[in-house]
Amino acid sequence: MRALTTPASHAGLGVLQHICQTRGMPFDREIADLARAIDGSRRAVVFTGAGISTESGIPDFRSPGGIWTRMAPIDFSDFLASEEARRETWRRRFAMEEAFREARPNRGHRAVAELVSRGKVGVVITQNIDGLHQASGIADDQVIELHGNTTYAHCLDCKARYELAPLRISFERDETAPVCDECGGFVKTATISFGQAMPEEPMRRAEIETLAADLFIVAGSSLVVYPAAAFPELAKQNGASLVIINREATGLDPIADLVLNRALGETLGAVVGVD
Ligand SMILES: [Zn+2]
Repeated sequence: MRALTTPASHAGLGVLQHICQTRGMPFDREIADLARAIDGSRRAVVFTGAGISTESGIPDFRSPGGIWTRMAPIDFSDFLASEEARRETWRRRFAMEEAFREARPNRGHRAVAELVSRGKVGVVITQNIDGLHQASGIADDQVIELHGNTTYAHCLDCKARYELAPLRISFERDETAPVCDECGGFVKTATISFGQAMPEEPMRRAEIETLAADLFIVAGSSLVVYPAAAFPELAKQNGASLVIINREATGLDPIADLVLNRALGETLGAVVGVD
């Protein structure tokens, strides 16, 4: 771990020490450094990846043993070209439905929501598609979803929104992939698939927010998926402090001001003071 270059200030750390002690957690230097970085920031951005949601039971598709190491992802061009690819896409999505529907925000999500409600964090930029930041109480317009959202579907042509429950009922009748009632376009979860262009508006907003931040906190991303992972690099180049909290090392650890290789919910929860 590399020390932050900001001047040390121990104001408020007594409270933190007390919180850690009452929960039987070690009050350690990494936690104190992160608390100090957040205290000293005027405008922070939190950038989240799969690691924050695995603690809610959402599998990390890209991890070793994850779905995409066992089953090749379906490319967007195949989805457009083939009814069987669309059918298989929906089969896989509905097979995941219980995991997504039953997932609840965990301590990490709650800690991030607390930072947003304090005004410390303006927006959360997320690679996740599970909607758990919104479920933790963060307003829709304060969550920038780089890979879309899998908890609802939309028409690829006219963007009409569809809820999954009724789509599932009709899909399970005859396995016909859903099409739009309005225009006949293909209906797909509102996610960005492999081979699909990154969404322009979220990418543009994420860049603006990244450039406005003086502290950029990566929470649970291994930072391997570009272009999304370019944001922490951009923040750092622009003069922001970069903090990375992730169980495993990431490619950007060498340029980060602070790296915490530890469990997310427990770490952020202790720093922010939420259960
Ligand atoms: Zn349509």
